[in-house]
Amino acid sequence: MSQPDQARQPLTDLSEDERLFYDNVLAFARRDIAPRVRQMDDASAIPSELVTALFDLGVMGIEIPERYGGAGASFFHSVLAVEALSRVDPSVGVLVDVQNTLVINALMRWGAEEVKRRYLPKLAAATIGAYALSEAGSGSDAFALATRATRQGAGWRLSGRKLWITNGREAELFIVFATVDPAAGYRGVTAFLVERGFPGFAVGKKEDKLGIRASSTCELLLDDCQVPEENVLGEVGKGYKTAIETLNEGRIGIGAQMVGLSQGALDHTIAYTRERKQFGQRVADFQAVQHQISRAATDVHAARLMVYEAARLRDTGRPFLREAAMCKLFASETAERVTSLAVNLFGGYGFVKDYPVEKLYRDAKIGRIYEGTSNIQLVTIAKKLLGK
Ligand SMILES: Cc1cc2nc3c(=O)[nH]c(=O)nc-3n(C[C@H](O)[C@H](O)[C@H](O)COP(=O)(O)OP(=O)(O)OC[C@H]3O[C@@H](n4cnc5c(N)ncnc54)[C@H](O)[C@@H]3O)c2cc1C
Repeated sequence: MSQPDQARQPLTDLSEDERLFYDNVLAFARRDIAPRVRQMDDASAIPSELVTALFDLGVMGIEIPERYGGAGASFFHSVLAVEALSRVDPSVGVLVDVQNTLVINALMRWGAEEVKRRYLPKLAAATIGAYALSEAGSGSDAFALATRATRQGAGWRLSGRKLWITNGREAELFIVFATVDPAAGYRGVTAFLVERGFPGFAVGKKEDKLGIRASSTCELLLDDCQVPEENVLGEVGKGYKTAIETLNEGRIGIGAQMVGLSQGALDHTIAYTRERKQFGQRVADFQAVQHQISRAATDVHAARLMVYEAARLRDTGRPFLREAAMCKLFASETAERVTSLAVNLFGGYGFVKDYPVEKLYRDAKIGRIYEGTSNIQLVTIAKKLLGK
């Protein structure tokens, strides 16, 4: 018999290497993260020793080539890592997601060789990255940003404020988008690599959030921040391309976060309803409950297929824009539905912090907001279907 055609394999059929990787990350999450989830949520922080363990696990530089100290794996591996971690804690999932699908991804695609040599080994070993596009006045309309970059001598001065920046508390390297010419609209937008220690840079207020509380979300303050010329990422005036292209890929990662989160909620719900007895039988024995769980499992399966399909398209160099928007839209809606059902089926125990599902219910909400709200995903899908 001839070798099976890879392209004809079922989407969820992982290669041996992918399966081992997923199982390893999930085992880590269950052993090293699960016991800390409640405490991390209460403290709104991910402890530094856990961050170190994530670097040791090899999930902080997944696509970084081995010559720069990374794992040299695929984007699909990043998606698997985010899914596996988010099954246990979506806050840890998004830390790893931003590092890989946004920061490293942007550096690998747009960084000059010298920039890659300088930053990729650090990102693979110990440096956390953050991706700073949003501002108080520009979210969905991201290129209406007001942070200004002005040329000065052999470098740039950046002034403005960024809002909502994931990993802001922990990060040492920030991709900051600023405009070199506000009159040029999106054509003025430029990406800069800003180190935490650069003069004029500071991390401001950390947000107190509804969900993914352990993930830090911070304001960044740039006050005449000095950035050397070689820290322009890509070309001046082409930052909009960097942002669009990385976010198109990043939203597949958010889809994976939502799939993992939904699977986690489903796992808890199945275990609980098989234990809990009412009317002399297990809650899982009521047919009404079985049907609800069946529907939730079907949604999670569909969301996972959509995420895997988008990631596989991306890794094989095929168009994936529509699929990325669809998978993020669908997976985040699934996460809302599944976690809501989980709370319902836990009854009163679903409403208190001693059980895990109230947190996942809160965590699910962010899926419809960041890296493009659901409405913005619908705009993107409509553009692909109907043209401008
Ligand atoms: C926890 C968290 C982490 C984040 N992390 C990051 C990060 O790391 N880096 C970063 O740069 N940003 C980050 N963000 C910002 C996030 O991407 C934005 O919040 C998001 O893009 C929405 O922007 P906005 O909040 O300004 O809402 P707005 O854009 O003001 O939207 C408000 C409402 O209007 C709707 N709307 C807007 N435009 C349209 C339209 N054209 N058609 C229909 N409806 C529309 C939206 O869907 C939404 O419902 C984060 C946000 C949060 C909450």
